[in-house]
Amino acid sequence: SSRSSKKPDAHVVPIASLEQIEQTYIMVKPDGVQRGLVGEIISRFEKKGFKLTGLKLFQCPKDLAEEHYKDLKAKSFFPKLIDYITSGPVVCMAWEGTGVVASARKLIGSTDPLQAEPGTIRGDLAVQTGRNVVHGSDSPENGKREIALWFEESEIVQWTPALASWLRE
Ligand code: ADP
Repeated sequence: SSRSSKKPDAHVVPIASLEQIEQTYIMVKPDGVQRGLVGEIISRFEKKGFKLTGLKLFQCPKDLAEEHYKDLKAKSFFPKLIDYITSGPVVCMAWEGTGVVASARKLIGSTDPLQAEPGTIRGDLAVQTGRNVVHGSDSPENGKREIALWFEESEIVQWTPALASWLRE
């Protein structure tokens, strides 16, 4: 048909062209998946009003885990961290919106779940730093870096939520 071959990837936006829009990489870690917290964690970001642009269940290979956490390579817990992140499937997400990086970090809570405020994901759902159920990028730069690391360009989808005008004026 005339529809088919014209613009097969019209909905797919190269990661490079999204540079103006703040994005964060959120990941449900293996403990969150095993504990059945995927829906609960996605809900926190979905209800807040940010836009989901990428989502997949994924078994992380060791080299990707090491690249993702390369800044922590010198830490004593690094080998255990890599074992943890590769111990089972994770759920990878890209979320977009003004202020999404800092806001997602607030929704997630402190690295140590015992210090995390009630109402945050870690404060409500976890007890130990080594099993803190979720990752969130710590800067807009790392948001872009991590999304490019964990996703293929074709897995990032640009779309206009129907509720956009009810979330932002
Ligand atoms: P965050 O994930 O809150 O940004 P960091 O970047 O400091 O925290 O650490 C990355 C991840 O490494 C943590 O979420 C946690 O899974 C793990 N981690 C950090 N510190 C420790 C620790 N002392 N012992 C075990 N794991 C740790």
